[in-house]
Amino acid sequence: MAQRARALPTNVGDDFFVDDSCIDCAACRWIAPRTFDEARGQSRVHHQPASAPDEHRALMAQLACPTASIGSRPGKDVAAAQAAWPDEIVPGVYHCGYHSEASFGAASYLLVREAGNVLVDSPRYNRPLARRLEALGGVSLMFLTHRDDVADHQKWTEHFGCPRVMHEADIAGSTRGVERPVSGRDPVALDDELTVIPVPGHTRGSACLLFQDQTLFTGDHLAYAPRRGHLYAFRGACWFSWPELVASTHRLFAEHMFLHVLPGHGRRYLASSREDMARQQRACLDWLATV
Ligand code: SF4
Repeated sequence: MAQRARALPTNVGDDFFVDDSCIDCAACRWIAPRTFDEARGQSRVHHQPASAPDEHRALMAQLACPTASIGSRPGKDVAAAQAAWPDEIVPGVYHCGYHSEASFGAASYLLVREAGNVLVDSPRYNRPLARRLEALGGVSLMFLTHRDDVADHQKWTEHFGCPRVMHEADIAGSTRGVERPVSGRDPVALDDELTVIPVPGHTRGSACLLFQDQTLFTGDHLAYAPRRGHLYAFRGACWFSWPELVASTHRLFAEHMFLHVLPGHGRRYLASSREDMARQQRACLDWLATV
């Protein structure tokens, strides 16, 4: 629980606050940008919520914070914020919220579809979210993009009885029980709508999940950088091989179509058209050639 006595001096106002346990995962800044931004390497409140919708988003960020570093005065409609997770991004695709410190605050997603819902990476396990996922039809399959973002995968798979899919090169420790390992570098079709695309680089076993040539869940392989204005990769957090990551990105762009990039860390990108995504990919490849 956030401690007001440890509130950062950079906070503005005294209702919502961020304390010094913030790990700078950035989640609150894109969940509620009208309330939170970055200052001196951590998040802070730059404006207290001035409207009911702003307060609602700030409360959603408070629930999502992986380290419980956000606090606020009592008496707010926390139940409404709980009911707002998971948050629909595009029809049928939800951001789960409830980020986990075990995955350094990475985002996780729920894909709702007739053929069975898919949980992509692991949110922090908790009853309010479990009830909301049950109301949306439960989870039939869990896809783990790579070893860093697995968090509470065991609890979720026990709760829903869902098999897990992960690339074998990243399976170790708590993921040894993964039911459906994939291997190699070729794409693997899970069914008519879902394709696993191995993208070694960030880790040896990193993989993306493509849904209907539309939505690409990228884990920590690829994200959008607002300051750069294009898709990019984490040069400073590449644990396996940067040349492999660059090669994986070239293959990914050459062989697959998608409109939406939904990452674990970093910002999502929802292209307005195929041409828009093609421009993003060209800018990304141009940038990769310079790094
Ligand atoms: S969500 Fe929490 S840990 Fe992440 S940047 Fe915001 S306050 Fe810090």
